[in-house]
Formats: sequence, structure tokens, C-alpha cells
Amino acid sequence: MPDNRISRQFLQWLKSSGITHLPTVNLPEPAKSLKKPKAGGRVTPRPAAAAATSAGKQQPARPAATPAPPARPAPLAETVAILEKPMTTAAEKQSALQLLGDVVAGCQRCTPLAESRQQSVFGVGDPNASIMFVGEAPGADEDRLGEPFVGAAGQLLDKIIGACGWKREQIYICNVLRCRPPGNRNPLPQEALNCREFLDGQIRIVNPDYIVCWGTVAAQNLLQETRSVGRLRGQFLQHGNAKVLCTYHPSYLLRNPSAKKQVWEDMQLFMAQIEKDQGGQAGEAGEA
Ligand code: SF4
Repeated sequence: MPDNRISRQFLQWLKSSGITHLPTVNLPEPAKSLKKPKAGGRVTPRPAAAAATSAGKQQPARPAATPAPPARPAPLAETVAILEKPMTTAAEKQSALQLLGDVVAGCQRCTPLAESRQQSVFGVGDPNASIMFVGEAPGADEDRLGEPFVGAAGQLLDKIIGACGWKREQIYICNVLRCRPPGNRNPLPQEALNCREFLDGQIRIVNPDYIVCWGTVAAQNLLQETRSVGRLRGQFLQHGNAKVLCTYHPSYLLRNPSAKKQVWEDMQLFMAQIEKDQGGQAGEAGEA
């Protein structure tokens, strides 16, 4: 039976049953035919971003530009000139330190620190000292008085110096930074690199046989280390001509008095090494 005849009979049956209207149904459009790739060709899926762009959608945000890594600035001509002069006698060393301190007093390399400091804190002590202490950066008291290690941590350092049988003025004392970071935060890597020229200059002028790095900041910056002071302490490391011992910063001892025991062990190790070296020198002199 042809299809249209069946349909007519079905509609007549509906009419005789009292059904005069039928609901309309939206049928889906037939799928469009997919274009076949050319023979032997490949269909490469388009990247989602390209597809979104072509559809007029927003492009994904580009990653932020990577900041330049901290870099050490070129040495100042004044510093180079100071360090070229002879520095053998205590008077020559004193003069070189004075000149370098004058350069530091006018230094503006770390603009926020230079703007907020009351004064730069260069260093104090015997220009011909065999022992140099290196700390982190000036605090509020140091910024006010212009001398390193003069606050509560400095008073504790003085006690340690006294317990070792030394006097403060026999030692040369300075910091990684010569200007106070706001809020006593740690020096930024760029600030430490900016100020490295002056630390190196002081070490070169004083030419100590021994250096004590007080705290992780001093140890890591002087020695270009990544290990913490807890891992570096209890042993000697070398920097130029100097034997270097690292130990906890006195301000850490104020917060953690139990670490005084380890610092005292480090200082005993330090004194024993000096005694050993001096004994060796005396022995060599006796043999000559
Ligand atoms: S911290 Fe050092 S490099 Fe920075 S401004 Fe002070 S003296 Fe200059």
C-alpha cells in the first residue's frame, strides 16, 4: 500500500475519533555532511586558543614578564682608586678605610634604604685586626649611632668577645649591608650585591686571618652559600686569605637562649684554631 493512502486513512480515523488538531513537532535539522579530507591528507586538530580566537572570544592572558635577576653593579671608580693605593701599614689601612667610608656615606645605590637611613653604618675596630666579624645589617640603634652591633644584640656580642678574652676594639666589625633595611627585614639579594663592593673593600684593606659570620645572612652572602648557619657552623671554611667560622647571630640568641651553648662551642673551636695556628707560626719561627 502506498504511503500517502495509509496517511489519508489514518487522518480520517483521527477525524472520526474527534481529533481535529495535531501538535507540531520541531524535528532536528539533518546533520550537515562532513567534508572528507583529501586522500592521504591529515586533519590536524586546531589548538583550543586558536579556535577561541577565531570565534571572537577573549585571548588567554600572557604570562607576566620575568623580573631580571639581581646583578652586581660595576665597581665605583672611587673604590677602585682607594684599593689601588698601598695598604700595608696600620696608618695606610686606616686612611683607606676612612676614604671608603666617605664613599659609603654618599652611596645611593639602594634608593629606599638611602632615603630612610639616618646615616650609613660602615664599620669599626682595628684596621689591622686579624679577626673580622661580619653581621647582617644595621638595626635602629646602629642607624642612630652609626656603629654596628650597639643594640641589645651588640651588648651580647660584647659579652661573647669578653668571654673569649678579647676586647671589642681589637676586632674589626662590619655588616653585609651598610644601611638599615626598613623594619629590620632581611637584606634583599640586590641590596646585598649593591653593598658587596664595600664589604670586599673592607676585607681587602683589613686583610684578616679569621672571619666570623654572625647569622645566616652574613654566612650566605659572604660565602655565596645556600646552606643555613645551622649547617655551616662547627667547621672552618675559606674566603680569600681568611679562615671563616659561621655561627648564630646574637639577636637569634636573644630569642633562643638555648643556642648560646652552640655559639660557645663555635667560639671554643675558633680560639683553638687561632692557638693552633699561632703555635705553628711560633714553631716555624723557632725552626728558622
Ligand atoms: S646598603 Fe650599601 S649599597 Fe645600599 S645604599 Fe647603603 S651603602 Fe649603598
